[in-house]
Amino acid sequence: MNATDPIQEAGKIILIGFGPGAQEHMSYRARAAIAEADVVIGYATYIKLVKELLDGKLVIRKGMTEEIDRCNEAWEHARQGKIAAVISSGDIGVYGMAGPTYEVLLQSGWRPGSGIEVEVVPGATALSACAALVGAPLTHDFCSISLSDLLTPWPVIARRLDAAAHADFVLALYNPKSGRRTGQIVEAQRILLRHRSPETPVAVVKSAYRKKQAIQMSTLAQMAECEIGMLTTVLIGNSSTFVQDGLMITPRGYANKYVDFGGEALAGEQAGRSLSLGLDGWKADVRERLAQGQGAGEIARFFDLPLAEIEAVIGELPSPS
Ligand code: SAH
Repeated sequence: MNATDPIQEAGKIILIGFGPGAQEHMSYRARAAIAEADVVIGYATYIKLVKELLDGKLVIRKGMTEEIDRCNEAWEHARQGKIAAVISSGDIGVYGMAGPTYEVLLQSGWRPGSGIEVEVVPGATALSACAALVGAPLTHDFCSISLSDLLTPWPVIARRLDAAAHADFVLALYNPKSGRRTGQIVEAQRILLRHRSPETPVAVVKSAYRKKQAIQMSTLAQMAECEIGMLTTVLIGNSSTFVQDGLMITPRGYANKYVDFGGEALAGEQAGRSLSLGLDGWKADVRERLAQGQGAGEIARFFDLPLAEIEAVIGELPSPS
């Protein structure tokens, strides 16, 4: 491939996330984009999931380690004036081919607006699909971490696990285990247990919206004993997540403001306004504590915040004259 070769006719690369698997969870645009494509490129398993949509198209199946080949192949076809679709399950921008494709294209001299259009079609990613099957575990702040150390050093993964657990995010673990990578989930469990109760609810969801779909409800203490494989996503609750009647739910926070989900606000709270410990209320609280003689370090520890956050509030105080 050479960026200076003449381009015959403007082709296009479409990077398509087709959702968790079942066709009814594919977006209209994903379906239309596959229909538009002359060439469809993807892992054999992905190709199989959309095979009904591929009549009359050139189909290129690739193995697990041929990702960069797939980007080059899409670029080659687009340069020949074809519409080349690269397909992925879930969202192609989430641990998918969108990033590597742009990287390869940019390195080859492609630029936006230079003739070959690139479109990314978003899809429902595994964490949304898996969450939907077990209740509403992602209703508050969450983060996703991939346990794959094929391209990411373990200390980076361990640091992110530790930070996310400390900050009380709900966690979605992608790529938790494979035939060869079996120790990562055990290490992850150990790190998370440093910050979170062993009773924390965990949902282990395999092959969401596919034929072999299987759901195991577990706890942080026991999750590593579950059957976990390449097509599993592990959802780990935060400190307020609960399981009731088989549903894993993370509260949105209504209990911080309202009495029993009614219209009546708790004492000191107002509908439509920040909480009494929202930004302004919290700063007022810090000022109050300082006025009472509490030290900045003590206040930082109380709120489990860096000292710099308390110092910032102090910095906003009018300077003593
Ligand atoms: N682009 C994909 C993620 C690719 S990484 C997406 O947005 O969903 C591959 C990992 O995704 C798997 O190891 C697994 O953790 C998760 N995954 C993908 N499809 C899944 C499904 N149908 N059910 C459960 N987990 C899935």
